[in-house]
Amino acid sequence: MAPRDYTAEKEKVKRFLQEFCRDGELGKEFPYRDQLVSLAHREQVALYVDLDEVAEEDPELVDSVCENAKRYARLFADAVHELLPQHKEREVVNKDVLDVYIEHRLMLEQRGRDAGETHSPQNQYPPELLRRFELYFKAPSGSKARVIRDVKADCIGKLVTVRGIVTRVTEVKPMMVVATYSCDQCGAETYQP
Ligand SMILES: [Zn+2]
Repeated sequence: MAPRDYTAEKEKVKRFLQEFCRDGELGKEFPYRDQLVSLAHREQVALYVDLDEVAEEDPELVDSVCENAKRYARLFADAVHELLPQHKEREVVNKDVLDVYIEHRLMLEQRGRDAGETHSPQNQYPPELLRRFELYFKAPSGSKARVIRDVKADCIGKLVTVRGIVTRVTEVKPMMVVATYSCDQCGAETYQP
């Protein structure tokens, strides 16, 4: 089988996010394009991609997402990241610590590029560190729910729907996505996704 062209896949995703529309009360609505604008202005953090809606445009893409969810989550996030600048209508001012970090990282990266340094892939910024949004898939309504004990090795990497009863809850705990270590002598940073 020919290797999949992920650049072409990303273009499909971009097209979907910008062009998907439905009839609303006030005429055509572009739910994803509107959300891109909110994300660009930091009025929204999480973007939920409804795979039923993706299926209306491109059922094949939904199959790919369900088979290889992790890879496609990254692909969708990359597409959103690349689309955000063109949906920014005004400057966003509220600078918090994370903004300062992101700015600093971009600056360092740019400086490295100007100096002609070639970064080893291990030393590139994990994209999660330069983003402020989160992306989630809403499973297609036709997907079969499994009981938790049927979630086995064949589910690895796939989008899985689980059905069960919550019997106990704990407080919400943070999940580490990328560990960042910084040197307290020179400020150099290393990352571990
Ligand atoms: Zn150091």
